[in-house]
Amino acid sequence: MTQVAENKVVLIHYTLTVDGQVVDSSDGGDPLPYLHGHDNIVPGLENALSGTETGKKVQVSVDPSEGYGQPSGTAPQGVPRDAFPEDAPVQPGMQFFVQDQGGNPAPIWIAKVEGETVFITQDHPLAGKTLEFDVEVVSIREATSEELQHGHPHGPDGTHSH
Ligand code: ZN
Repeated sequence: MTQVAENKVVLIHYTLTVDGQVVDSSDGGDPLPYLHGHDNIVPGLENALSGTETGKKVQVSVDPSEGYGQPSGTAPQGVPRDAFPEDAPVQPGMQFFVQDQGGNPAPIWIAKVEGETVFITQDHPLAGKTLEFDVEVVSIREATSEELQHGHPHGPDGTHSH
């Protein structure tokens, strides 16, 4: 039987619980596809799924060091609302990408919005949290060469849909 390993596209149903609250779940929707070995999901969950098979259920508690890291301790920075695309919804918890000093995309999150000022942070909203994952492996397939190039999965059959 195929096992979850490097360069496989894996579909999972998952529920993420933090501090006793469900913060994210695929329940009632489509399973989440990810490309194993390409930083699509947090390292702690990826490690726990490695070597599992279709139908396998995994419960894992992931420390911040294997999850979203520790908070940086720096206060969120205020930027004007019009620094964001006008049609982009701007809400706390949303993720955007900016260019870092090396010109690489770096994620930022919106910490809060006050009037026309948007406070951004480099800290993931779940930084410093222990992540409780409840996961079921739905299916496993080989990635296409295009998916490997992009570093993420495409549609159910590997065709490009975005
Ligand atoms: Zn792509």
